[in-house]
Amino acid sequence: MSRTALVTGGSRGIGEAISKQLKSEGYNVAATYAGNDEKAAAFTAETGIKTYKWNVGDYDASKAGIEQIEADLGPIDTVVANAGITRDAPFHRMSPEQWKEVIDTNLTGVFNTVHPVWPGMRERKFGRVIVISSINGQKGQFGQVNYAATKAGDLGIVKSLAQEGARAGITANAVCPGYIGTEMVMAIDESIREKIIAGIPAGRLGTPKEIARCVSFLASEDSGFINGSTISANGAQFFV
Ligand code: NDP
Repeated sequence: MSRTALVTGGSRGIGEAISKQLKSEGYNVAATYAGNDEKAAAFTAETGIKTYKWNVGDYDASKAGIEQIEADLGPIDTVVANAGITRDAPFHRMSPEQWKEVIDTNLTGVFNTVHPVWPGMRERKFGRVIVISSINGQKGQFGQVNYAATKAGDLGIVKSLAQEGARAGITANAVCPGYIGTEMVMAIDESIREKIIAGIPAGRLGTPKEIARCVSFLASEDSGFINGSTISANGAQFFV
């Protein structure tokens, strides 16, 4: 049976690798993005995966977008809430706007992505929810009070959803990547990035594919007893 997967932020970075991995395993994949039309078009041309554009922070847009995907591809049984942003600043200089933008995208965005598909998963007695959290949600990070709060919040979301969905055949789990070589990390000042890499016992950044493999494991039908869990993939940087 062919499953349908929604990957938010699925046309670039870690999400791109997740979309490709799931497609290679036979899923019908829909990838969403926020505004980078050029990258989304190149991604569709390369992979054949259809992309949909909306802001995950907007509930009505998420609901309408998800309805469109289900009309195009059928009911969504696998949701990967991956879209995320950083707006870093030391706390004393963090603006309310920087706080709100990150909360809206990384935390409310997860609610907005999962909530519209949840009733269908309950009815069909099957669902897989996978949220991409972060090592910085597990340990906190200088300059990321906003981001760390959202990523820790994501862990609370999956642990609670797991308990609510378990009897309906729905699992909810998180993946906590360490530092992965995507545009988000390459945007960090090079001298700081080198210090980060020096602190990773593996001595390197992770790859998007290494995170995609965690997601496909959790998405699998055989992973039904793994529920409310967190997979940490961080090159031995931190253990949770
Ligand atoms: P990128 O910046 O490379 O890609 C982010 C993706 O999310 C893009 O597709 C972007 O769309 C989309 N996006 C951003 N904001 C919104 C929004 N408001 N609505 C819809 N889509 C949006 O990020 P990464 O691949 O590096 O990160 C993916 C996830 O992994 C994030 O949740 C991040 O926090 C998490 N993570 C990343 C780590 C890393 O080292 N890279 C480490 C730990 C966690 P568009 O292309 O249109 O801009």
